[in-house]
Amino acid sequence: MNPLKAKILRLVESVGPIGVAEYMRIALMDPEHGYYMRKDPLGASGDFVTAPEISQMFGEMMGLFFVQAWEDRGRPKPFYFAEIGPGRGTLMTDMLRAAKLRPEFLAAAEVSLIEESPALRAIQEKTLSGARVRWVSGFEELGGAPLFLAANEFLDALPAHQFVKSSRGWHARMVAKRGDGLVFALPEACEPDSFAPPPLRGAPEGSIWESGTEAIAAMRTIAGKIADHGGVALVIDYGYSGPAFGDTFQAVKAHRYADPLAEPGEADLTFHVDFAALAEAARESGAYVYGPVTQGAFLSELGIGLRAERLKRANPERANEIDAALHRLSGKDQMGALFKVMAICNPSLPTLPGLPC
Ligand code: SAH
Repeated sequence: MNPLKAKILRLVESVGPIGVAEYMRIALMDPEHGYYMRKDPLGASGDFVTAPEISQMFGEMMGLFFVQAWEDRGRPKPFYFAEIGPGRGTLMTDMLRAAKLRPEFLAAAEVSLIEESPALRAIQEKTLSGARVRWVSGFEELGGAPLFLAANEFLDALPAHQFVKSSRGWHARMVAKRGDGLVFALPEACEPDSFAPPPLRGAPEGSIWESGTEAIAAMRTIAGKIADHGGVALVIDYGYSGPAFGDTFQAVKAHRYADPLAEPGEADLTFHVDFAALAEAARESGAYVYGPVTQGAFLSELGIGLRAERLKRANPERANEIDAALHRLSGKDQMGALFKVMAICNPSLPTLPGLPC
């Protein structure tokens, strides 16, 4: 049997069923067998593909966004140019290359990466070898300079709680043992209907709602830093504007949906992100919020179409590939509509490129 599944089965046997959030944390981050601890999910034989891995144009647009936002902010020096959950280091590489057009930006930037996974950090060290970059364990290691932060497909990797409605109230969804397998289960104990956010009260039996407490906590930390010291964070992910019903807990393995309980540590697990809850948390922490807008609208506004034309002129033999990447990143039937972009900034920052006021 998969060793992490055996470990979780032993845990459940000794302490009883565990919450969905705890299950996800173990499946992704168990120090020995967790998915992100061992695997490169984005490599050639990986499980999923992210925007920066599709084309250099994605990171270049993000790099230009940050250069412009830094200019508009009065060129603070020094500042943190940071990324959380940097994957293979591709996005930061592309952003730094685009930022070369403003050597002053690069000279003032303290490039900082926050990454939990030793396997991915090793890949980032290779990808970014030669760049002036440091790895930090968290935001607390960043001091009092303005923070310019990218987070692409990071918040969806953070554990969330699920609640299921019965005739009696809301039950925290658990993971229990049945035979040699793991199954979802509901405890007897429940919370009253008023436990759910007001728009979800009176929900029919069987309804599920999710609470991304860790994503919200991360947003509070980011927004608090930005409110105190200035800067801007770009958060890009798939999600919705809640509160809403629905089970978005999903597993992806080898580019296909999988059963999230079947092979912990072998498949990526994610939740859709609730942008409304994140925006509220950011505002409560004193920051200003732009968006969310669709990734397609954001990239078009920043000029990805022109960039694609330039690249095609310089590499005519790659024209089809460049067009396909452009469509994948910004097409409405592709990532362009599913993915959303939200910016969190200090209220003193003027308008932001690519985002409506
Ligand atoms: N941003 C990258 C990778 C997305 S995958 C890209 O777009 O290609 C999610 C990333 O978040 C991985 O690098 C993973 O190791 C990292 N991650 C997950 N949980 C984390 C945590 N709690 N702290 C820091 N990084 C985390």
